Amino acid sequence: MNYARFLTAVSAARKPSPIRILTELQQRSPPSLISLAGGAPNPNTFPFQSASIKVKNGQTVSFDEAAMKRALQYSASNGIPELLTWMKNLQKNLHNPPTASYTSENGQMDMCVTTGSQEGLCKVFEMLVNPGDNVLLDAPTYSGTLAALQPLGCNLINVPSDQHGMIPAALKEVLSRWDPSEVHKPGSTAPKVLYTIPNGGNPTGASMTTQRKKEVYELARQYDMLIIEDDPYYFLQFDKPWAPTFLSMDVDGRIIRTDSFSKILSSGLRIGFVTGPKPLVDRVVLHIQASTMHTSTFTQLMVSQLLHSWGQEGFLQHIDRVIEFYRGQRDAMISSADKWLKDVAEWHSPSAGMFLWIKLKGIADTQQLIMQKALEKEVLLVPGGVFMINSSDPCPYVRAAFSLSTPEQIDEVHTLQHTYEHMLTHTHTP
Ligand code: PMP
Ligand code: PLP
Repeated sequence: MNYARFLTAVSAARKPSPIRILTELQQRSPPSLISLAGGAPNPNTFPFQSASIKVKNGQTVSFDEAAMKRALQYSASNGIPELLTWMKNLQKNLHNPPTASYTSENGQMDMCVTTGSQEGLCKVFEMLVNPGDNVLLDAPTYSGTLAALQPLGCNLINVPSDQHGMIPAALKEVLSRWDPSEVHKPGSTAPKVLYTIPNGGNPTGASMTTQRKKEVYELARQYDMLIIEDDPYYFLQFDKPWAPTFLSMDVDGRIIRTDSFSKILSSGLRIGFVTGPKPLVDRVVLHIQASTMHTSTFTQLMVSQLLHSWGQEGFLQHIDRVIEFYRGQRDAMISSADKWLKDVAEWHSPSAGMFLWIKLKGIADTQQLIMQKALEKEVLLVPGGVFMINSSDPCPYVRAAFSLSTPEQIDEVHTLQHTYEHMLTHTHTP
């Protein structure tokens, strides 16, 4: 793979910070190293001394004074080594990516820690997307993705999808505008980047089948595209075995995968990961060097200590408990929808994630309905328009998140039915 053709001028121009290189060198050296380099402040002057955090299973994550000094200090931009090692092992066990065994740097799998997957996504987009570029995605899609992509001035092209995610035949049709043998020609407008949420999509709840992923990957090969696999609901797949990921199929090194701990360990701690070909992960890390420098060292150490004490087995047992919870919530959501909304709406039961995507029959746009409900301080749902490429286009859908509410609160979706009936009799919808 030639990654140079994918990089924006800004990304290609990023250079390592000489001081960051010294900081990272210092961290890999024995403590006896006398360093007058770097610009690290003296942690003896910091007010925090030690910490002890109770884990729900009775364990404790503790920071003695030495650990605390490290936690309060600058650290490597790609992440602290012990967290990265743990995650690389997990990634290999879960996905066995072909690129993990590459010996040459080009295309070889690498990872970095990000401050939530949102930071990774935003930096990946800024690395790859120029003004005017055609970018493929299956809308409706996560509004945070639109917020990161749209200001880059690219042209977002929607690939039709259904409850099983992006439709390969539709992607083929969209791509038929370009000749695969000409995508490398200067001035080609062929898309270089495809973005998708493969499991429990936000907002649609859709999950892609293995067969579809294989077909989409083949099309990406044919047109030499990178695929951004944004998979924060991977660990929230209700049924085993979990679907094979794009990363697991990546023989070429064209997958950039973002993982997130937000739905399984903490959303507020802000921990995510970018996995992909080393030359691309390196570019993201250079961007981190120049912006946040690194994800909070304290946060990384706290999470890393817990993961090391759990081991992969303990981690996956925790995931099983999280899945149990969300499966119960999904079931409550579906039974409430069945009870109240059968006549007025349509939906597909999601097999992953935390969202139900509800289509209201005979209503062109749900914006007014939802704002009215919000004003009445009853149920709060998100009108579907915010997930569309053009947010002012009418949208007959609403997104219901079943993550936070009790089954009794979820049952309040019945108020949607009353307002819906009221709207149908008092407005004329085209
Ligand atoms: N500005 C200047 C002039 C600095 O010296 C530094 C840190 N060396 C920074 C900004 C970045 O500081 P922070 O750790 O708060 O990101
Ligand atoms: N990608 C998708 C599809 C999401 O739904 C979210 C959060 O809602 C994110 C990324 C951002 O997650 P994080 O908290 O890891 O930044």
